[in-house]
Amino acid sequence: MDYDVIIIGAGIAGLTAAIYTSRAGKNALVLETSAIGGQIVNALRVENWPGDNGISGADLMNKIYHHANEFDVKIKYEEVISVDKIDDENGTRRFVVRTEECEYSCGAIIIATGAEPRRLSTKQVKDAGDRPISYCATCDGVLYKGKPVVVVGSGNTAKHEIEYLKDIASRVYHIHHDDPIPKEAVAVFAAIGRVPATERFVDLVELDEKGYIVANEDCVTSCPGVFVAGDCRTKIVRQLVTAAADGAVAANAVVEYLN
Ligand SMILES: Cc1cc2nc3c(=O)[nH]c(=O)nc-3n(C[C@H](O)[C@H](O)[C@H](O)COP(=O)(O)OP(=O)(O)OC[C@H]3O[C@@H](n4cnc5c(N)ncnc54)[C@H](O)[C@@H]3O)c2cc1C
Repeated sequence: MDYDVIIIGAGIAGLTAAIYTSRAGKNALVLETSAIGGQIVNALRVENWPGDNGISGADLMNKIYHHANEFDVKIKYEEVISVDKIDDENGTRRFVVRTEECEYSCGAIIIATGAEPRRLSTKQVKDAGDRPISYCATCDGVLYKGKPVVVVGSGNTAKHEIEYLKDIASRVYHIHHDDPIPKEAVAVFAAIGRVPATERFVDLVELDEKGYIVANEDCVTSCPGVFVAGDCRTKIVRQLVTAAADGAVAANAVVEYLN
């Protein structure tokens, strides 16, 4: 199946890119490995999305998803496993995008795969033993109603997880990364930061030492025809507004590149 552009990831960056490319008349496909909306869907309140103070992450992404639908954006639930570039003898470049289910061809790519939770250290996993490890209190907190749990981590995500769990669990222990896990806790909630979801693209584009795709505000990567948007690129502020802005910038760059 042939597309003008394939957008990898249906978080806010990917969906914004899809709206812009579709409005520009390009045949765009979005590939998403899990659910629409990306990492913000579990946030109960978003207080810095202009014009909608206090909206939940799920409601915000639902609105953006419906907005994208108005422009007939095609979305398929498939994980991208690899992207290869093919240059023909006339110098025309196409990309082959492979998922478990299918193989697609396109003229340009926008990588908008965001970030995923950083995994606990081997030592802490060993410490946890048979106790379940969760990376999302909103998803799994209810399973431990009235029971003691532990949150690992010291940043904003850890604060958010503690706040959420304190009304559900009988007690919320709080420890830092690599502290021993208290014996009393029946489940471990890990909130030790996020890492970019870019391992599929190591042979395609340049990454920095932390795994972020190297690009500046123009969202252009080291590989002509491949653009990047949102939390998976090198940048200073990783927020909804900056991810959405990247989606627009990357989409405009794709349209210019294809034309
Ligand atoms: C708990 C929490 C609270 C937050 N609160 C705020 C807030 O209040 N305000 C704010 O501005 N920001 C907040 N953020 C940050 C904000 O959520 C991110 O900056 C933003 O969602 C990044 O969007 P994105 O589209 O770049 O990536 P993501 O939202 O991470 O979306 C990437 C998508 O790509 C998909 N994907 C990954 N790999 C593949 C693959 N190989 N194939 C197909 N699909 C793939 C993922 O499943 C995901 O759906 C918060 C983040 C968290 C975790």
